[in-house]
Amino acid sequence: MKLAVHDEAAMIAMGERLAGACHDPMVFYLYGPLGAGKTTLVRGFMRGLGYAAAVKSPTYTLIEPYEVGGRRVYHLDLYRVRDAAELEYLGLRELQDGSAVLLVEWPERGEGFLPPADVELAIDYAAEGEGRQLALQAYGAVGEKLVSAFGSGDFNPG
Ligand code: ADP
Ligand code: MG
Repeated sequence: MKLAVHDEAAMIAMGERLAGACHDPMVFYLYGPLGAGKTTLVRGFMRGLGYAAAVKSPTYTLIEPYEVGGRRVYHLDLYRVRDAAELEYLGLRELQDGSAVLLVEWPERGEGFLPPADVELAIDYAAEGEGRQLALQAYGAVGEKLVSAFGSGDFNPG
């Protein structure tokens, strides 16, 4: 599923809508270049779950844990990771113990140390203008359920 996200407010709204469709523990991989809007999407997601305080980018901390509405959420940003083996001590695969939601920026830098994705989101700069493009891909039943609940919007197959 591919969607046009015209501005920052639309990216926040997209994150809120994702949160509204997310009723299960799951793992999101967030792909996209620097400045694409990955953290902005996570801010919307947290807001959608009812988290009112600021969401900081975990660029330096690698991981930021949240507790909201009885759910645990981990926001990771692996941009600064040079060798995925550095992540061993974080025990990332164990974070997804069947109750948490993980949102991982730069998952390609944690290969081999992350639980598998239920949903992959790829954000990129729009070919024209200031906006962004968002592509969603589900893996397995939990991911499929989210993507279908996420709904159609300005759905445009391919
Ligand atoms: P990333 O985490 O991918 O590096 P950020 O979420 O920090 O990117 O966003 C970088 C910048 O892009 C921010 O200034 C944000 O307001 C802006 N931005 C986010 N989404 C969009 C969008 N859909 N259209 C235009 N600008 C956006
Ligand atoms: Mg970021």
